[in-house]
Amino acid sequence: MSDSLLLEQARMLCQDKGVRFTTVREQVFSLLADSNGSMGAYDLLTQLQKTDAKAKPPTIYRALDFLLEHGFVHKVESQNAYVLCNHFAEHHKAQLLICDSCGDVQEMNSSAISKALLTAAKQRDFKIVEPTIEAHGLCKKCQQN
Ligand SMILES: [Zn+2]
Ligand SMILES: [Zn+2]
Repeated sequence: MSDSLLLEQARMLCQDKGVRFTTVREQVFSLLADSNGSMGAYDLLTQLQKTDAKAKPPTIYRALDFLLEHGFVHKVESQNAYVLCNHFAEHHKAQLLICDSCGDVQEMNSSAISKALLTAAKQRDFKIVEPTIEAHGLCKKCQQN
């Protein structure tokens, strides 16, 4: 899907939910849509400051909180970075395959894995707050190099 189509879809989703897709939120969304891999908050801030010189770290973190809350992005804890979700309309639980060589992040959306994790945690009386699973390794491209 092209970036402008993604943005249009995100705008419509926000309208449906009755939440505001502010300029900053749109800009951060677009930066992540343009990026090939994940981006850290400071990379995002540097990019944002090119169009909005007044942007400060809280500007970015507030926008990211919004995007996370509504399922537009996934946080990659082990990289301390963010990726745009490929199918954000579903607001799903993700499994991330992270390449340690090039930093590429592929997301999976397996309900079987999510369910298995939930069941196993429940048996241990554990309440999961953040269900994202991150697996590290080498992507297809990097295995060939
Ligand atoms: Zn996703
Ligand atoms: Zn790679």
